[in-house]
Amino acid sequence: MAGTLFVVATPIGNRDDISARAIAVLQSVDLIAAEDTRHSGRLMSHFQITTPLVAYHDHGNEAQGERIFAALDEGQDVALISDAGTPLVSDPGFRLVRSAREGAYKVIPLPGPCAAIAALSAAGLPSDRFCFEGFLPAKQSQRRKALALLVNEPRTLIFYEAPHRIIATLEDLLDIFGAAREVTLARELTKTYETVLNGNLSELLTQIKNDINQQKGEMVLVVRGFDGEIASVKEQEEERVLKLLLVDLPVKQAATLAAQICGAQRNALYKKALDLKASD
Ligand code: SAM
Repeated sequence: MAGTLFVVATPIGNRDDISARAIAVLQSVDLIAAEDTRHSGRLMSHFQITTPLVAYHDHGNEAQGERIFAALDEGQDVALISDAGTPLVSDPGFRLVRSAREGAYKVIPLPGPCAAIAALSAAGLPSDRFCFEGFLPAKQSQRRKALALLVNEPRTLIFYEAPHRIIATLEDLLDIFGAAREVTLARELTKTYETVLNGNLSELLTQIKNDINQQKGEMVLVVRGFDGEIASVKEQEEERVLKLLLVDLPVKQAATLAAQICGAQRNALYKKALDLKASD
């Protein structure tokens, strides 16, 4: 019978966060597939786990995956871990788990630390519905495009961010989401310099700019979802038509024409046209 692939979460800082079950499984499996065998080797020796470690990356060489499946085919059990937290969450493992499931191998998760969930649990932002966005693009133009697509997202948003990009990302968030949007920065969770800062984007940006220590370490941004009224498709179309007409026509005429084109109330569009002009 083929072996089992265990997907094992490991600590994101504080080693004591490893579960008793994770230690037992890591001790009992035949092989541990790790993102970085040297890094994970230190964790294993701390817990006196002597199971052999092999490297695994989703985009590593094919031999890595073949070795793991050969072991499973021989009836050996394999544990997948990443450098920290839950494998597959902004970490390698998706391809391995996907192939294992496609091959009808047994896959068992061992839940545990995850920076996104830890940050959400302490953020004080709505947690009934949330969406995890992982890392935003590093290039500013792409990051701004990604954020523009999320501006009306009503669920709480969770991002991972690198310390050297935190100011630039907060500046883009402020620009696109507006200064008043609530945000939490959860930094160095479970470690010595753990900090969880809350505020609106303007307050948080100022605070972080003024404190170099807040620009260091590992960090998660939790952003409150959009809670205003989301423009309906019809309203968006009315605004698009109005904007086009306002380029060449005075407000009254643009509103009349837009109302005819969109089948809307002229008065409502007149008011909207005045607002658009005022915000120009
Ligand atoms: N698989 C991991 C998990 O379950 O959270 C995430 C791995 S991802 C490569 C690393 C990113 O997670 C960091 O850049 C940071 O954004 C976040 N992270 C990891 N550990 C953290 C910690 N202790 N405090 C805050 N953020 C952390």
